[in-house]
Order: sequence, then structure tokens, then C-alpha cells
Amino acid sequence: MDKAIFFDRDNTLIIDSHYMYKIEDLKFYPETFSTLRELKRRGYVFFIVSNQSGLGRELFNLNQLNHFHAAMLKEFQRHDIEFLEVAFCPHHPKDNCDCRKPEPKIVLELIEKYNIDKKNSFFVGDRESDYQCGLNAGINSIKIENGYELPELLDKIQ
Ligand SMILES: [Mg+2]
Ligand SMILES: [Zn+2]
Repeated sequence: MDKAIFFDRDNTLIIDSHYMYKIEDLKFYPETFSTLRELKRRGYVFFIVSNQSGLGRELFNLNQLNHFHAAMLKEFQRHDIEFLEVAFCPHHPKDNCDCRKPEPKIVLELIEKYNIDKKNSFFVGDRESDYQCGLNAGINSIKIENGYELPELLDKIQ
């Protein structure tokens, strides 16, 4: 069984500039790569779980989002970091869907699909909805202010 870290995307792994889809807006925190490499060394696999209501709001389309994610993953890969999946809720909040964080549906599906060890897994994000999503999924939850705090995870996740 693998232990996993489920990361929020915006303001956690990459710098948020609101409803991002343009490659030129893709920016990482200074210690994103070194922190994740150390967590990988400690035996964790990684997922991204993101609310992307920009789709539901029609601010960008799925093609543009996939393109953005491909560029993001390529940059992570260049630094020897992989994510097993980048999963997202595409809905508008008013759709009242069952997959938007803090709903745990996406996390639970990934846990099932990849046979993840819940007891030793974490959700990491900057919002209360991230924190609650982790708790709702029955895993450990850590709330950070933003991605500049990522190195502090190394004290909290052994
Ligand atoms: Mg966020
Ligand atoms: Zn949804």
C-alpha cells in the first residue's frame, strides 16, 4: 500500500493568479520542487485535487486546462517529481455537485483506485475546504497559508 499526499493546486503548489489557464501564468514557489523531492524520498506518492470552477464559469475550456496541466507536469517532471493524477471538479459552485471540495468524492475514488494507505496519507491545501476535504475523506489534513510554507511540511510529514 502506498502512502499519499493529496495536494491542492492553486496557492499551494503553484502561485495563484485566479482562474489560470495561460502558460505564462504558471509560477512555482521557490522550494516546491526540493520539498516534494524530499517527500518522495520519504515514500509518498502525489496527487493533485483541485476545484476548477473556471470551467463551469466558462472562463476557459477543458482543452486549455489540459494544456496548462501538461505544462505544469512537464516542469515537475523536469525536477524528478510525478503526480499519479491531476483530478479536478469542473463544476460551478451553484451546480451543487458532489465532487467539489470539501466533498471527499475525488479523494476517496483515488484512494480506492490506487489502493492508498489512508492512515498515513495527507491532504495539504490553503483553504478551509481543503482541510475539511481531507478530514471528510478520513485522512490527515494540513492547512498552510500558501506554498511558501511548503518546506514546513517536512517537519509535519515523516
Ligand atoms: Mg488553493
Ligand atoms: Zn464537481
